[in-house]
Amino acid sequence: MKSMKQMRLSLLAATFAAIGISTVVSAEEVVVYSARNEQLIKPLFDAYTKQTGVQVKFVTDKEGPLMERLKAEAANTPADMLITVDAGNLWQAANQGLLQAVNSTTLNANIPAHLRDPKNLWFGLSVRARTIFFNHQKIKPADLSTYEDLASAKWKGRLCLRTSKKVYNQSLMAMMIEEHGEAKAEQIAKGWVANLATDVFADDTKMLEAIGAGQCDVGIANTYYYARLMEKKPTLPVSIFWANQHAKGVHVNVSGAGVTKYAKNPAGAQKLLEWLSSDKAQNLFTDLDMEYPANPAVKPDAKLLAWGPFKQNLINVNKAGELQANAVKLMDRAGYK
Ligand code: FE
Repeated sequence: MKSMKQMRLSLLAATFAAIGISTVVSAEEVVVYSARNEQLIKPLFDAYTKQTGVQVKFVTDKEGPLMERLKAEAANTPADMLITVDAGNLWQAANQGLLQAVNSTTLNANIPAHLRDPKNLWFGLSVRARTIFFNHQKIKPADLSTYEDLASAKWKGRLCLRTSKKVYNQSLMAMMIEEHGEAKAEQIAKGWVANLATDVFADDTKMLEAIGAGQCDVGIANTYYYARLMEKKPTLPVSIFWANQHAKGVHVNVSGAGVTKYAKNPAGAQKLLEWLSSDKAQNLFTDLDMEYPANPAVKPDAKLLAWGPFKQNLINVNKAGELQANAVKLMDRAGYK
């Protein structure tokens, strides 16, 4: 039987082997664990290497396995940075002690306060709005107003939703709890369920297609799924509506990054993070995935600009994590599957 130390060493060796780097890591090099896939991050890191000469090594996987790996590797981890989607996931990483605070005037200047962790454990780098989409052959924008209104009886049998099992809806509901309190948020969730035209969908794209097919009139999805779908099916009769513009604003979420607790090169990771928040990198980070730059000084891609400006809800996205467990329980009570 192997000793604990041998097991740790072989785990470490396996990790290095898996990401194809030698066990001698140069001080300059930055190692990233990323839940964003290779095609989205490789061009970005190539550009960084070209500008700075610093190599970036990365591993991609789903956020769950990456966080498990960081936990198991603990102080032996080769990772300097974690990149993942959704504030709920970033909050989980911070809450599990996998990240360290980064105090950077550059990051504080580039990333608005509501899009970063209040303790500086992570920073949003791109923004996705989770807003209302509708079939423009069936209804008019004037029929629409807020997420809350989609719970009213006038939408009975006309609403499509993605499953509450997805973190995006847990984050949306967490924000509802923050804004309205549990009792009212539960009423809204119950109203949505009562209005469903059909069973909940496994993903945003299928839900948007159902709106396009006239199976329902209206639903809630992330902006980048809509952008991708309209590229493929430009004649689909689905339009975007910016929710809650006369209330607190549209629900936004982020993908973002933090420096790992046991980074070997925290200074290098911080520099990379600062670069990712800068005008040089923001479009590289966001445009491929059709997201909005988190840095408000940077313009989004033309396709997104065409949808017009919108007011963001300024509740700190960190609340999505803090209230995630409450949101899950609440949606369960409301019968939202
Ligand atoms: Fe997504």
